[in-house]
Amino acid sequence: MKITAARALPGQFRMIVPFKTANVVNEVLGLTHVVIETDEGLTGYGEAYPAFEVTGETQAGVVDVLENYLFPALIGAEIDSRQSVRDLKQSYDPDRAPQILAANPGAKAAVDMALLDLLGKKEGRPLCRVLNPEAPAELTLPLTGAVGIMDSVEAAVAVGRLQSDNGLTRLKVKVGLDLEHDLKVITALRAALPETSLCLDANQGWVTWEGAARFFERLGEGVVEYVEQPVLADDYLGFVELRNRFPLKLMADESVHTLGQARTLLQMGAVDYLNLKIMKHGGILNSLAICDLAAQYGVPCQVGSMGENVVASAAGAHLFLSHDNLRHAELIGWWVYDRPADKQLAAVDGRLVLPDAPGLGVDGARLLASL
Ligand SMILES: [Mg+2]
Repeated sequence: MKITAARALPGQFRMIVPFKTANVVNEVLGLTHVVIETDEGLTGYGEAYPAFEVTGETQAGVVDVLENYLFPALIGAEIDSRQSVRDLKQSYDPDRAPQILAANPGAKAAVDMALLDLLGKKEGRPLCRVLNPEAPAELTLPLTGAVGIMDSVEAAVAVGRLQSDNGLTRLKVKVGLDLEHDLKVITALRAALPETSLCLDANQGWVTWEGAARFFERLGEGVVEYVEQPVLADDYLGFVELRNRFPLKLMADESVHTLGQARTLLQMGAVDYLNLKIMKHGGILNSLAICDLAAQYGVPCQVGSMGENVVASAAGAHLFLSHDNLRHAELIGWWVYDRPADKQLAAVDGRLVLPDAPGLGVDGARLLASL
């Protein structure tokens, strides 16, 4: 199957409610969809979420990278196996010198997922079974919800309760700006939703291990499942300090983009969990490589998400279903966009339900009509 054309389709997507973290307030996001066509009439779909606060990408940069650096490497290439996709990836995202274009993981992720979508369609199998023939028969997975930083405790509890009422049993709570407010929110959520597992994400907001320690000393044991990214992204020693001083489990997110960073964190014994995101690692294949490595160290991973819509959320779900070392999945971005015409995925009793269809299972006509 030969690639004949590739297009980038940038668009603006508004969230139903603005989402605030210690880093940023997201309200309107510039997602870019990718469409790759072949001589066999199959079409692959991808999506780039420019996580500017995490990866430094912008939507204009994503489009430039796609059109001028990545697409030229694709046209005319043959893909018919996972190895051929790996080989093609080496032409736009090599894991050795010469690097044609470092970083830009969101743009690379959009191409990666479109190529794998095509491969699944070619093989007539859902992508998770292309990646792992032992993947579960049921294409469904539990979702972890999210409570952004809210102005009031009551508003945070209302957001948490709404997701609990939709069947979610695990919530990630954003913290890291105001210690006293954060502790009140956690206490109130704990009381309002006693059956719900709570996790925290500081998004680097405490800056140093000393800053995080001030929070940890007040939090108490057994209140939350883990705390994500308590220190700045490059402060691996800060993670180690916290692990040596407190019994809380720690997850790295902004600290891990590349396989080399993952190896360093794991060898240092700096983390209990890794949060893997297709948009940070440059695609599903790179995410699986990190997941494989983490498994060797006995460190479980989560499939995280930021504000990915339908295509990238489906990609994250297939990634999740393809590897035993992935224990939790966020992937609720598609739920929070103000585009009811494109609600292709479904959440039932807190679980994401994927279409049992080849590739990513995305309805292309419906997707394009919604852009
Ligand atoms: Mg995070």
